[in-house]
Amino acid sequence: MTQQTIDNDKQNHYHKTRMERKKAQIDTSIARADGEKGLLLVITGNGKGKSTSSFGMVARALGHGMKVGVCQFIKSRTDTGEEAFFSQQPNCEWHVLGDGFTWDTQDRQQDIDTSERGWQVALKMLNDPSYDMVVLDELTYLLSYEYLDKDTVLNALMAKPEMQHVVVTGRSAIAELRDIADTVSDIKEEKHAYKDGIKAQKGVDL
Ligand code: ATP
Ligand code: MG
Repeated sequence: MTQQTIDNDKQNHYHKTRMERKKAQIDTSIARADGEKGLLLVITGNGKGKSTSSFGMVARALGHGMKVGVCQFIKSRTDTGEEAFFSQQPNCEWHVLGDGFTWDTQDRQQDIDTSERGWQVALKMLNDPSYDMVVLDELTYLLSYEYLDKDTVLNALMAKPEMQHVVVTGRSAIAELRDIADTVSDIKEEKHAYKDGIKAQKGVDL
């Protein structure tokens, strides 16, 4: 037997032992994680993929025949691929509730009024257990800019129906929102095509 064959055999043996141990650990954690509950998920950070991630969950939920409500705050465009696609799905209710970015509206009182109106739509869903999943896209800004009362929003999220999943997206999620969430993902930007002068691309960004 050559030295190389011996080394190779050893490596295969170590790999097998490591994988056996790993499998035992994973099986134990899977067996332990048998709870079911409606989750509060927060997808935040500066990297791309927050809203897209929430739409992925919408697709999964609809695939299971679940009823989904989506509220899009801040943004006002109604020509996105996601809206065109999901608003056609019988179990999906889609609301575009914003009137533009703060730097477009430049009117704090108008932003507050729009936010309050949008929040009432969201609140209805959060009070209705027939929605299996509710996405509150870009809601984080309404809290960080203090357009909505923090306690009102956090209390409503904590009081959501037990089995309802709620997904909140947007940059700069406030600490209290992260605290009450079950799952928090902070998406980090490594690079973005926008910085190379590429505009938002259909199918990728809208
Ligand atoms: P997406 O909707 O693509 O998942 P997002 O929800 O993570 O993005 P937003 O802050 O909501 O991020 O961004 C909205 C738009 O800005 C999208 O067109 C997105 O591709 C783009 N975008 C996201 N991240 C960045 C970034 N780091 N720099 C520039 N543009 C970005
Ligand atoms: Mg987004």
